[in-house]
Amino acid sequence: MYRAPRGTSDILPGEQGYFRYIEEKAAELCRLYGYERIDTPVFEDARLFIRTIGPGTDIVEKETYSFEDRSGQAMTLRPEGTAPICRAYLEHGMHNLPQPVRLYYFASIFRYERPQKGRYRQHQQFGVEALGDGDPALDAEVIDMAWQFFASTGLANLSLQINSIGCKKCRPRYLDELKGYYSQYVAELCSDCKARLRRSPLRILDCKKPSCQGLAVAAPQSTDYLCHDCKEHFESVMGYLSLLGIQFQKNHRLVRGLDYYTRTVFEIQPQGEEGAQSALGGGGRYDDLIEELGGKPTPAVGFAVGIERIVLNMKQQRIALPAPSGQRVFVAYSGEEAKNEAIKLVATLRRCGIPTLSGLGDRSLKAQLRQANALGAAYALIIGEDEVKSGTVELRDMAKGEQRRVSMGEVVSVLGWGTV
Ligand code: AMP
Repeated sequence: MYRAPRGTSDILPGEQGYFRYIEEKAAELCRLYGYERIDTPVFEDARLFIRTIGPGTDIVEKETYSFEDRSGQAMTLRPEGTAPICRAYLEHGMHNLPQPVRLYYFASIFRYERPQKGRYRQHQQFGVEALGDGDPALDAEVIDMAWQFFASTGLANLSLQINSIGCKKCRPRYLDELKGYYSQYVAELCSDCKARLRRSPLRILDCKKPSCQGLAVAAPQSTDYLCHDCKEHFESVMGYLSLLGIQFQKNHRLVRGLDYYTRTVFEIQPQGEEGAQSALGGGGRYDDLIEELGGKPTPAVGFAVGIERIVLNMKQQRIALPAPSGQRVFVAYSGEEAKNEAIKLVATLRRCGIPTLSGLGDRSLKAQLRQANALGAAYALIIGEDEVKSGTVELRDMAKGEQRRVSMGEVVSVLGWGTV
């Protein structure tokens, strides 16, 4: 028996309601904030991700699904959504559009991770990117959007954490300080962090191993090393968030797992689980990324949220989905002639926008009605020999168990929204 690959899952019909609900909330939010949808390919030139996410990051070192295509080109399944959008921004000359360009996406993301609850090898993200403006008000807009998005899903008890990790001018001095600090405790660092110490000391702050977490508490804080401009920028972001009435906590250990971030970084987590691998979403500024890809300096900011984790949290918090709209009709028949009438009637109802199913084969009427019940049909339309002769159908209200005869010509208008 084949099974879905480890770390992946099928989204069965019973689960789809959550995914569609979240997608609708996200699309509505983007409409309000003026963000337009973009879709990029599932795979890209492998170098795009190595270059932007950073060679020292877990994602690039251990987690990409990479392969050579038949012409020998190195390809990678998208392990995050931002770099492809920056590539598209450049490729399609979007710098010629009014700035910032506001985009959003839904995308499958592939990372070869150790599967556990809320951590999969394929998951879905909803993300937004605002490209082409460095104004801290844009950071606040994007953070506000993430916050309002979670509010719209009904999730409660979330916390917003923010930090600034500076820019290429001020960060080197901070990284030196961090290296100096952690060099005193090499023996206590996990093996991954020992390697990180040389190449990407920022990542140590983010390590989830208890010994590394303990050391992070007293580590130098990036906000103490910000240059004048970064400091002002961060203060403004926090000022605007306060104007918007959004509560946040500063978290000096928040650095995010990708190399391209500059200045603002933020994450949204279920309260009480800070530090665990529980972030529902996160993002930040990436002012150098487009330049890194060969474009003009183009400041930008964005966020992404993980849909599966939101579904998990919605279930934990017992958030009910709105009842599905559109009541189903089931057409049952008995005999060959009745079957022909049933086939025509099903087609007519569907063409009139009424969701309809019917029996198949030569099952008894009783069995078909049982099936109608199991499918949650609100009404059954029953056609037997008598009905064929008289050009009528029996209309059965499944909940009440009541039945009445209507003429074939009337069925659509009788079923037409709410007049039954
Ligand atoms: P990241 O790009 O790592 O910041 O991820 C953005 C969001 O996607 C996270 O906050 C999670 O909600 C979700 N996410 C990241 N990695 C995974 C994963 N392996 N499985 C499920 N959700 C994930």
